[in-house]
Amino acid sequence: MIQRLCIIGVGLIGGSLARALRSAGVVSTIVGCGRDETHLRRAVELGVIDSYETDPGQAVKGADMVMLAVPVGAMEDLYHRIMPHLSAHAAVTDAGSTKQSVLTAVRAACGFVPPYFVAGHPIAGTEQSGVEASFAELYQKRKVILTPEPDTDPEALRKVRAMWEACGATVVEMPARHHDEVLAATSHLPHLLAYSLVDTLATLDDKAEIFEFAAGGFRDFTRIASSDPQMWHDVCLHNGPALLAVLELFEQDLDKVRAAIAAGDGEYLFRVFSRAKAARDQFCLR
Ligand code: NAP
Repeated sequence: MIQRLCIIGVGLIGGSLARALRSAGVVSTIVGCGRDETHLRRAVELGVIDSYETDPGQAVKGADMVMLAVPVGAMEDLYHRIMPHLSAHAAVTDAGSTKQSVLTAVRAACGFVPPYFVAGHPIAGTEQSGVEASFAELYQKRKVILTPEPDTDPEALRKVRAMWEACGATVVEMPARHHDEVLAATSHLPHLLAYSLVDTLATLDDKAEIFEFAAGGFRDFTRIASSDPQMWHDVCLHNGPALLAVLELFEQDLDKVRAAIAAGDGEYLFRVFSRAKAARDQFCLR
């Protein structure tokens, strides 16, 4: 049972965590924190949090669990502000989409990664943002990746794992570096491609006609380009090396596809498309 949960960043991810833990009956009190009081008042009205503070230092006082669910670029400043006010018994975790950069931010604030800090990332979300978009079922049957360090306190790790499991998630552990490489390929690159494609088309002269005829495929492929630009700006800059590595690989393969089209090499295209369909059917349709 979590006695006092402090969620800094009561948006889609933080708000959904609050709702899920409430419906599981495993939390007594939830204190929210953010920059804009109107968002926090709305979170209270919706029953997502019990009360709020706009000062992160005040918000974490007395909490036995602290969740940082803000854009990854905000983590370092936030950690500086909460660190002197954390309870001795608090476990602190985050939901940021990049893990090495969050650990670097915590290290910059504390001089080291404290044993009670357990870095994490729920592999769940939508293109919506804010507390209004949050819902209790977001984490059900989804994976949450935790990236403990060698010095992570086993008790803090157990508490964070139990929190996510109470939301219906399956928790897996991996090194932060590996997390960043995997997510660069499966999440960060697709977001980059979706944003870039929509932006390219949006700057064409006949864009109105292009978007008018956008069919299911275009909508499926570009749904994630409706995600919050600030969040994805932060993710791309905070996972640069891994993202650039997979982007380079993709550019090389795209060049080959372009050359095949120019040369009328249908056999090559058919091979690539068939291999891709088989891979997607195997991994995404089960
Ligand atoms: P969101 O809906 O925009 O919520 C972010 C919240 O953080 C907002 O309520 C915002 O409220 C608050 N906030 C922003 N900057 C802050 C700061 N400097 N100090 C205090 N509060 C601040 O975003 P989200 O989708 O929940 O994402 C939160 C985190 O989860 C990000 O690190 C993201 O990388 C990660 N994540 C997102 C997804 C996804 O699909 N969306 C999935 C997995 C992980 P105010 O504007 O009122 O301050």
